[in-house]
Amino acid sequence: MDMQTSFLDRLFDAGLLIDTGVDGLYGRSGRFEDVIVAFERLIDRFGGADGAEAMRFPPGMNRAFFEKSGYMKSFPQLAGTVHSFCGNELDHMSLLKCMEVGEEDWTKDQKATDIVLTPAACYPLYPTVAKRGPVPAKGALYDLQSYCFRHEPSQDPARQQLFRMREYVCMGTETHVTDFRQSWMDRGVAMMKEVGLEVAIDVANDPFFGRAGKMLANNQRDQNLKFELLIPITSVAKPTACMSFNYHQDAFGTKWGLAMEDGSVAHTACVGFGLERIALALFHTHGLDVADWPESVRKTLWG
Ligand code: ATP
Ligand code: ZN
Repeated sequence: MDMQTSFLDRLFDAGLLIDTGVDGLYGRSGRFEDVIVAFERLIDRFGGADGAEAMRFPPGMNRAFFEKSGYMKSFPQLAGTVHSFCGNELDHMSLLKCMEVGEEDWTKDQKATDIVLTPAACYPLYPTVAKRGPVPAKGALYDLQSYCFRHEPSQDPARQQLFRMREYVCMGTETHVTDFRQSWMDRGVAMMKEVGLEVAIDVANDPFFGRAGKMLANNQRDQNLKFELLIPITSVAKPTACMSFNYHQDAFGTKWGLAMEDGSVAHTACVGFGLERIALALFHTHGLDVADWPESVRKTLWG
């Protein structure tokens, strides 16, 4: 049994995660959720005074916005769409027969709805803000959290198919948003230190699809557009990205028509916390029973 499977099994045995029979789709116990709630309070302590506007979207988003985002160009392998039965009574009868016989795929006649699963917490934000008009000269800051879907089944408990991302998104001038990103890299390191986690920050790239994707990934790295804060969870040699710090230049501003008050295109950056990954890093580092965690860590999280 490899390291990853055994950590997942230990999490199941301890009742922290709940097996659903699908890799990467887990229930969470109250004890697991307590850690996430406490860590989100810590995020608020670090970021609360910045005055970000909070918005919470459900884990599904407008399919038209998703199409416009270009997600299917870059990450078709990760996307999840919501399909429903849209037939008449006759279609319903043949659907039930198909399910009963079990030979044919009963889902083949399901029709795409107007909803797709949210791939990252910030995706519904850009079209929402674009509708409001120009971004103020002093910039704009948003606080988001959402369950996100990515079709990447795995027995690594840190790679789930439905997981939560807390994000801060900043819009403004290049200097404004790159300063924002730098300040969260510093804060990220400080926060993890307070909860006793060993971190490294490194340049990174998104998992762009296919051969053309390799070029996009190299380009992203060469330009230092994405950094990750890494913490050992299932491997010390290959630590896991628990936060990411992304500078989109004016790409999202151009795509969504995000203009500044002076007419220039807004730059954007986002900082994402992988909430399950952070909880898993804490359980991996300090043990599966929070009562045994170092006093300083408990104090930071629960006062
Ligand atoms: P990875 O390189 O590990 O696939 P990513 O670059 O795709 O991650 P981002 O798109 O930057 O990740 O997402 C923001 C954060 O969400 C990540 O830093 C991570 O903490 C978390 N995250 C991403 N994918 C998963 C997943 N499958 N399961 C749990 N958390 C995830
Ligand atoms: Zn984002």
